[in-house]
Amino acid sequence: MARRPRIAITMGFREEPLPAHELPDGYVRAVVAAGGLPWPVPSVEGDPLVEALLAEADGLLLTGGGDLDPAWYGQLPHPRLRRVTPRRDRLELTLTRAALQAGKPILAICRGVQVLNVAAGGTLVQDIESQVPGALQHDQTAPRDYPTHPVEVAAGTRLAALLGSGTVRVNSLHHQAVAGVAPGFVAAAHAPDGVIEAIELADPRRFAVGVQWHPEALWERDPRFLALFRALVEAAAG
Ligand code: MN
Repeated sequence: MARRPRIAITMGFREEPLPAHELPDGYVRAVVAAGGLPWPVPSVEGDPLVEALLAEADGLLLTGGGDLDPAWYGQLPHPRLRRVTPRRDRLELTLTRAALQAGKPILAICRGVQVLNVAAGGTLVQDIESQVPGALQHDQTAPRDYPTHPVEVAAGTRLAALLGSGTVRVNSLHHQAVAGVAPGFVAAAHAPDGVIEAIELADPRRFAVGVQWHPEALWERDPRFLALFRALVEAAAG
């Protein structure tokens, strides 16, 4: 049996009612379905420990969650900023910078695309509804596995090679988004209101793709979305 590449999956962290990590099952099942070995990583502290974690990982999956502290991208908190988790911010930003430096493949989902962009030097929209004129609804009330708005995937991108270029309908469970795309990255998909819905490394030899939607909640209904996880696992296999 072929070895399964080990995919480090970041976890949520909450303080109440007792300090605990959590990981939605959809990410675990998507990595398994794509042929990877799911390896949840908690928000440990200290750069040497983070480096040691990364050394054991073949690829990195950055998962969804709450808002990043805007101080990480040089901004003050907007009134509509939601709860931040300093410990998770530190772990994910340190891990992502190290993974980029080491050339390890990264798939980043929802909060993950925001972490990826900030780790590489980009900025975020802190609240779409109040900061993007003419914004559509990005914080859907429909079930998570139900696509609610289209995105236009840019031709010639790695994302287009995986999903097809043109219009794809996606789910949308976010109130923040990528603003200034990080150096070395390109925007790979946009919503009709101009909100950036995906980024990827411009260098086609390296795999770092981030999407603002939640493919882990879509792939069972629409197998196209499993291609994102397969691409991560294949890149992690080296
Ligand atoms: Mn959206």
